[in-house]
Parts: sequence; structure tokens; C-alpha cells
Amino acid sequence: MRGGGVYIVGTGPGDPDLLTVKAVRLLQKAEVVVFDRLVSPEILNLVPTSTTRIYAGKGPRNHHMQQEQINELLASLVRRGCTVVRVKGGDPYIFGRGSEETEYLARHHIPFEVVPGITAASGGSAYAGIPLTHRGLATSVRYLTGHLRDGLELDHDWQSLTDRNTTLVVYMGLTNFEHIAGKLIAHGLDSAMPAAAIQNATTFRQRRVLGTLGNLAIRVREAGLSAPVIFIIGRVVSLADMLNWFRSDTAADRE
Ligand code: SAH
Repeated sequence: MRGGGVYIVGTGPGDPDLLTVKAVRLLQKAEVVVFDRLVSPEILNLVPTSTTRIYAGKGPRNHHMQQEQINELLASLVRRGCTVVRVKGGDPYIFGRGSEETEYLARHHIPFEVVPGITAASGGSAYAGIPLTHRGLATSVRYLTGHLRDGLELDHDWQSLTDRNTTLVVYMGLTNFEHIAGKLIAHGLDSAMPAAAIQNATTFRQRRVLGTLGNLAIRVREAGLSAPVIFIIGRVVSLADMLNWFRSDTAADRE
């Protein structure tokens, strides 16, 4: 982008080998990199030491930098003529608030490009041995948030989520999983439906807990999983043992 602009770059779920060629190229030639919490140190190591790095991290509860401040930061860097690489975990347009940033940039006539990344559902699915669709088990997939801003009640159309041919993937669901499972069961999903939780998918910190919709919340608590975790619910989870191939002790980011 001539004269400055923002690349909103998805960096995938953690394994640096899952970066796109475009993401690597942009990270290596960036003038300024603005990153947040879900971007792993292994990925930031690809950024030359001479590049300016700005942390705009957001936790689920402690908003280090408010979204509005991040938007303004990106805009002011571009006004100074910089080409900014704004890196995000996973895919920028799946629960990544990438579109809040591009909406702002578009409104202020600031040039931008979006580089897709592998989302946690895809990374977790592949590295935990759980296909998201499978003939005879799942004909569709739905990604849903397990967390709403400002403590608002989750207002999913629960009834529409209880189709046994649909795989559900819950992002940001660690705190609310028991509630979510309860709602799904109350609306008719079988409590014996296989379900899995995957922490730090694709990295050497990956941990996988298997169970059912009815008991997974307890198992996750017993195992002491911590964020980031995605949940996969559906009959496809029954393949998890057969298709398991990933060993976190030989992960690409182990060294
Ligand atoms: N844009 C990101 C999602 C950001 S929302 C993406 O496309 O993946 C943050 C949530 O993503 C976390 O709460 C967790 O549910 C999920 N997540 C991100 N990275 C993950 C990982 N490596 N393992 C498991 N879950 C992950």
C-alpha cells in the first residue's frame, strides 16, 4: 500500500507453520506491528527486531486498550505515513473484531487489506482429530460465541442449535460452558452427545479433554483447562480417538 495503510493479518491459532505466506511476508517487512494477546511469541519472533511493536492486548475481562483507542492508534500511525501490520490470532473476521477495525478505517478513508488466517475451529479440529463435517455424522457447522460483551446474557436461538447433524464450535466459552450445555440440553440436544474441549490448539501447550455435552464442563474443570479453549460439540467428536495424530511434545513451536 503506497503512502501508508493497515494490513489486518490473521496469524492462525498458534503453530507458526500455519501462517500464510502472505502473513510471513508482511510480518518481515512491517514498519510497525500492532498485536494482541492471542498472538504467540513464536510468531512475533518472525518480526525483525528493528520493527516497532505495539501491544494492544485484550483479555476477556481486562481491556488493556479499548477498541476505540486501537482504532485511533491505527489511524494515527497511517496519518504519519506508516504501513501498519495489525496482527490478530486466528482469522480476523471470526470473533476477532477485525471488522470493527476495518469499519473504522473505511469510514475514515484509510486504505486497508485483510489477510485471512486459520481460525481456531479449523486448527483445533485438525490437531485434535475431530473433523468438523463427516459424511453421515455432520452436514453443517456453526461457530458461536460463548461470551458477550458487558456481561450481557447469551441470546442465541437455542432451538436452532440443537440439530444433531450440525457440529457446534464454541469460541470464548470457558466461563459459560456449563450454562451453554445446560441450555442446549434443555432445548433437546442429547446430553450424551460427544463433546470436546481443546486448549491452546496447535501448540506444544495443546490439551484435549473429551466427554459428553452433559459431563464436559466438569471434566474441563477437573483437568484445570485455561484460556484459550474452544469446544466442539457433535457426533464428529466420536472420531477423536481414531483420528488423533498430534503430539504436543513434538510440536513445531516446542524448541
Ligand atoms: N479470531 C480468532 C478468535 C478470537 S476469539 C480465531 O479466528 O480463531 C478468542 C477465542 O478463540 C478464544 O476464547 C478461544 O475460544 C479461541 N481460540 C483462539 N486461539 C485458540 C487456540 N489456539 N486454541 C483454542 N482456542 C483458541
